[in-house]
Amino acid sequence: MSYSPSSHKQPFLNGEVALVGTGPGDPDLLTLQAYRFIQLADVVIYDRLVSKEIMALVPQTSELIYVGKKQANHKVPQEGINQLLVDHAKQNQKVVRLKGGDPFIFGRGGEEAQFLLKNNVACHVVPGMTAASACSSYVGIPLTHRQVAQSCTFITGHVKDCGMLDLPWHTLSDAKQTVVFYMGVKSLPLIAKQLIDAGRNANTPAALIHKGTTPEQQIYKGCLSSLQTIVEQHQVKPPTLIVIGDVVNTFAEHQLANIGYLAP
Ligand code: SAH
Repeated sequence: MSYSPSSHKQPFLNGEVALVGTGPGDPDLLTLQAYRFIQLADVVIYDRLVSKEIMALVPQTSELIYVGKKQANHKVPQEGINQLLVDHAKQNQKVVRLKGGDPFIFGRGGEEAQFLLKNNVACHVVPGMTAASACSSYVGIPLTHRQVAQSCTFITGHVKDCGMLDLPWHTLSDAKQTVVFYMGVKSLPLIAKQLIDAGRNANTPAALIHKGTTPEQQIYKGCLSSLQTIVEQHQVKPPTLIVIGDVVNTFAEHQLANIGYLAP
C-alpha cells in the first residue's frame, strides 16, 4: 500500500502500545491507520469482536494472544489484560491491542490507556468505527434525521453484578432522540419496561441488528414493546445492537436492497 502517515503522527516505537479500533467486522471499515499499526505489530492482543477477516491481515510473524470470552468459557480479567500489555511493552515489543469498534466507546480503552501511562508505557489510540454508526448505516437507519431525531445517545445495557441497570431513564424519553443500546440483548425486557415507564411510547419503532456489517448480518424491526418477543422467536444473541427511535422506519423494507445499499 503506498500510504504514509501524516507528518504530525508519532511513529510507533518499540516498547509502546497501540489501542487499535477495527470497526464492527467488515474489513472494508478498517482505517488505513489501523492497518498501518497492525502491519508493525510484534504482538497482537485481541478480543472476540475482532473479525477473522481482520485477523487475517495480521502479519504471520506477529505473536497472537486471545483475551476474549467464549474460549473455554472464561475470559482474561481486565487486570490481567492491563498487565499483559505492560509486560509485552516492557519486553521492548510493539504491542497492538485490537478491539472491535472504537476503543473508547464501551471498549475499556480508557482504562487500558490509564494503566499503561501509570506504568510509564506510551500509548497510541487509533479510532475505529463504532458499531452504532457502522451497523445502522449498513441497515439503512440514519441515527439522526432532520425533524425526526435531533440527538442520539449511545448507552450500555450491560447489567451490573447486582442485576441492576442503573441508567438515567428520564433523559431517554424524548421522542426526537435516537437511543442505541450496546450489550443490551439480555437486559432487553428491563430496558423496554424502564423506557416505557419513563414516558417513551411503547409503539416507538425499534430494531435489532445482529452481527452488523458481516456476512451474517441480520436486522429485525418492530417496536419498543415487541422487541423481546422478536428476541425469543429468533433466538437473537450478542453481538447485537438495539436502535430505538422513529429513524428506524426512515426507509421501507424494499429500499434496503443489500448490506449498505439502498435502491428505489
Ligand atoms: N467498542 C465497541 C463496542 C464494544 S461493546 C464499539 O465501539 O463498537 C460490545 C457490544 O457492541 C455488543 O454487545 C453489541 O451491542 C455491539 N456490537 C459490536 N459489534 C457489533 C456488530 N458487528 N453488530 C452488532 N452489534 C455489535
